[in-house]
Amino acid sequence: MMCFSHECRYFIKKIVSVPNHHTMLKLNNLTLLKLLILLLLTCVTDKNHRMCSNHYNNFHLSHYYYTSTTTTTTRSSSSSILKLGLNGYIKTQNIDYAAKDFGHIKHFPPSAVLHPSSVSDISSIIKHVYEMGTNSELTVAVRGHGHSLHGQAQAYRGIVIFMESLGGRERKEEMHFNISSDHDKMMMMMSYVDVSSGELWIDVLRESLKRGFAPKSWTDYLHLTVGGTLSNAGISGQAFRHGPQISNVYQLEVVTGKGEVVICSENEKADLFFGVLGGLGQFGIITRARISLEPAPNMVKWIRILYEDFSMFTNDQEHLISSAKTFDYIEGFVIINRTGVLNSWKSSSFNPHHPQEASEFVSEGKTLFCIEVAKYIFLNDEEDHDLVIRLLLKELNYIKSTLFSSQVSYIEFLDRVHVSELKLQEKGLWEIPHPWLNLLIPKRSIHVFAKGVFGNTVKKMNNGPILIYPVNRSK
Ligand SMILES: Cc1cc2nc3c(=O)[nH]c(=O)nc-3n(C[C@H](O)[C@H](O)[C@H](O)COP(=O)(O)OP(=O)(O)OC[C@H]3O[C@@H](n4cnc5c(N)ncnc54)[C@H](O)[C@@H]3O)c2cc1C
Repeated sequence: MMCFSHECRYFIKKIVSVPNHHTMLKLNNLTLLKLLILLLLTCVTDKNHRMCSNHYNNFHLSHYYYTSTTTTTTRSSSSSILKLGLNGYIKTQNIDYAAKDFGHIKHFPPSAVLHPSSVSDISSIIKHVYEMGTNSELTVAVRGHGHSLHGQAQAYRGIVIFMESLGGRERKEEMHFNISSDHDKMMMMMSYVDVSSGELWIDVLRESLKRGFAPKSWTDYLHLTVGGTLSNAGISGQAFRHGPQISNVYQLEVVTGKGEVVICSENEKADLFFGVLGGLGQFGIITRARISLEPAPNMVKWIRILYEDFSMFTNDQEHLISSAKTFDYIEGFVIINRTGVLNSWKSSSFNPHHPQEASEFVSEGKTLFCIEVAKYIFLNDEEDHDLVIRLLLKELNYIKSTLFSSQVSYIEFLDRVHVSELKLQEKGLWEIPHPWLNLLIPKRSIHVFAKGVFGNTVKKMNNGPILIYPVNRSK
């Protein structure tokens, strides 16, 4: 879609193919700018292309086999799993739902779908396929909420394992909380919850909030499974402080490629632990995760400010993520040639701090850059939040008339994308192809990249969100 320098390509390749980008992210202490490009394009994919083999996506047992022509072998291989005595169930008919994802670009029909009701169901299937040996060519893909973009959770003529059947909404498995009753802040930060990997993050949040706690690191959208985002990275505006979600896991339960059920952590079977985190389902199946928690704020002050100058925008973003006292969430986005930006903010309960000047600000035809920040508010905290926010904003070089803010509950803030989802669903715009692209760009290349891309390459394709925000490599 776009032209990248060698360096950028290097970064894309690392993120996609290196098993352990958790370690990779920890290696270097330089600041990284994460460029998350989300372009909602209504592209029509050609059918032949959709059917191409997705051999790189599936969980291959012991070796990599390319799915090719042996339909008979594959069918007889997958039918043998029907004889296994499982607690859950296997479907072989009407399973087209397992050949779709949020991307709506790839469509790989499987031979069978497993809806497990226990970890031993998953272990039995994997063991069975492993014991079939190298000739079976049967592949297995694990599926969370199916919000992949490019068929990553699909298995052409293989078996798809639906993790939501294991935990999640289909079968409410208990979440086990270990909350420190000690009021010492350090002790509270050691709290955790054990969850099934099929749980949606929104449900983990709701349950945690009942206890006054919440996970530390998020994605912008919460209707994704724990296993699904831990197999990627899980990056949002808290990552500059806490690292991505994969850096906030104490322990995992994993079904290995041989069907063994193994507990792993930083100190126990660390290779497996770091391989599976961010491993796109290629190194084992996460069945449970121990997620680190922190006390949840009561309210959130949510602020947006605009820039016309890209350097000022990135300087301020970098300044914010490197300051000791700063906001709790720092992101940003690019606005290309949009009319009425500020009016649409006003209608969504964001209040302008300078109403008169804001109404005079003209956004049409411009490429603008928005920093979005949030400050968490704890009601028992004696800090003067408004003063802290004023002081933080004072150090920034945004266009003063474009300061907008809103105060919302913590759950409203974290679940903000769901509001847009519902609106897009109403208009029939959620179930369309999503050729989205996520990139990590090193700080030294971000200006060259921005010059070539914003208002240039993407000038005519501006109907999707373009998020851009900094993360610290040390995290
Ligand atoms: C609207 C939207 C917003 C998003 N925002 C963000 C964001 O802010 N930050 C971010 O980091 N990402 C974001 N993403 C990307 C998202 O994190 C990934 O697409 C994620 O994989 C989706 O989770 P899922 O449960 O749908 O997983 P699936 O799409 O079902 O699976 C994703 C991958 O993980 C593997 N997998 C799934 N479950 C397991 C498991 N239990 N064990 C091993 N492997 C498994 C699958 O085989 C597949 O390779 C967003 C996606 C969408 C659709």
